[in-house]
Amino acid sequence: MKKHNFSAGPAILPRIAIENSAKAILDLNGIGLSLLEISHRSKDFQAVMDETVALMKENMGIPENYHVLFLGGGASTQFATIPMNFLKTKAAYLETGVWAKKAIKEAKGFGTTEVVASSAETTFNYIPKGYTIPTDADYFHITTNNTIYGTEIRTDIDSPVPLIADMSSDMLSRPVDVSKYAMIYGGAQKNIGPAGATFVIIKDEMLAKITEDRHIPTMFNYKTHVEGGSMFNTPPVLPIYTIMETMRWLKELGGVAAIEKINIDKAQVLYDAIDNSQMFVGTAEKDSRSLMNICFVMKEQYKDKEAAFIEYAKDRNISGIKGHRSVGGFRASTYNAMSKESIQYLVDVMHQFEKENL
Ligand SMILES: *Cc1c(COP(=O)(O)O)cnc(C)c1O
Repeated sequence: MKKHNFSAGPAILPRIAIENSAKAILDLNGIGLSLLEISHRSKDFQAVMDETVALMKENMGIPENYHVLFLGGGASTQFATIPMNFLKTKAAYLETGVWAKKAIKEAKGFGTTEVVASSAETTFNYIPKGYTIPTDADYFHITTNNTIYGTEIRTDIDSPVPLIADMSSDMLSRPVDVSKYAMIYGGAQKNIGPAGATFVIIKDEMLAKITEDRHIPTMFNYKTHVEGGSMFNTPPVLPIYTIMETMRWLKELGGVAAIEKINIDKAQVLYDAIDNSQMFVGTAEKDSRSLMNICFVMKEQYKDKEAAFIEYAKDRNISGIKGHRSVGGFRASTYNAMSKESIQYLVDVMHQFEKENL
C-alpha cells in the first residue's frame, strides 16, 4: 500500500534518487565496489562530488564568484561557525522561529547580536516586515523557511550588509537570486537529500573577511573547506551521492523555475481545503505562508478531535502530519518530491473525516 509521507525532515525524496543510491551502495557505476567502501579521493567519488557541485550551481544559477561546499555537522553547526568566522562586533538577526533563535544563541558567544524584528509573541506565525537592518552589522541572518511554523520568505531581500540565509527547508524549491546573498546554508535532509550533509554556498569576498585575530579551529574555518574542495576531511559520501541524484531529477524536471510552479500549485490544493474547511484552520498569516510546510490545527470547538484525526490519517497510510510540539495540530510538509496526488489524497481524507465528525 502506498504511503503518503508528509514528514518535515528527514523527508520525502524522489523515488529515483533513492533507487539509484541503493544501486550505488551495491555497485557504483559497475566498478564492482560499493560507494560505501571506496576512497573519497578515488576518481569515482571525485566525479560524484564534481557533478553534485556542478548541478547545484546549474540548478540554482550560482554565479562564478561563489563556492559550493558539502560538509558534516548539520545546519546547527553552521549556527556557530558563521559568527566564529564573520562576527567581529555586531550581527543582525531576524527572529522568525526556533531555528533562528538557536542561531542567535550561538552568535552571542562571539559579539553583540541585534534582533531587528521578531514574531515570537504570536508563536512565529508571520514574517516581520518594515524592520531596519543596521548598516554597521557584520552580517544580517535570516531563516527563509520556518519549518516548524510554516512561514516563508519567498523573495530575495535587499540588505545593506552581507546577507546570510538558513535555507534548510526551502533550498531548491524556487528560483533564488544568489547574488543577493553572501552565504546560503542548510541541512540537506529537508528538501535535497538525506541527513548527514550540510550545504554551504559562500561568496568569494566573504572568505577575505576571515582574519587571524580570533582563533578559528581548522575544521570550522570556511577557508579550509573551500581550499580542500569539501575534501579536507572525509565528506559525507552517501548523502552527497543522493543529493547528486536528487539534483539530476530536478534538472530533468526543468529546474527550480519548473518546481516552483509545481510547488505553488500543490500548496494551493491544501491551503484552499484548509481555508474552506469548517473544522480545520491554518496557523500562519496568509501573506507569510510557506509552500514547504503547511501548518494547521482544528478550530477551538473541535480541538478534542486532533488526536483522532492523526490516527484516522495514519490508518489511511498518511504519515508524518503531526505538528511540531510547539505549535500542535498538524503539519503537512510538501517538499519538492511530494506529488500533487498525495496532497489531494490528504485533502480527501480531511473531507471524509469532517463528514464523519461534524
Ligand atoms: C531542520 C532545520 C535546522 C536544523 O538542521 P540540522 O541539520 O538538524 O542541524 C536548521 N534550520 C532549519 C530552518 C531547519 O528546518
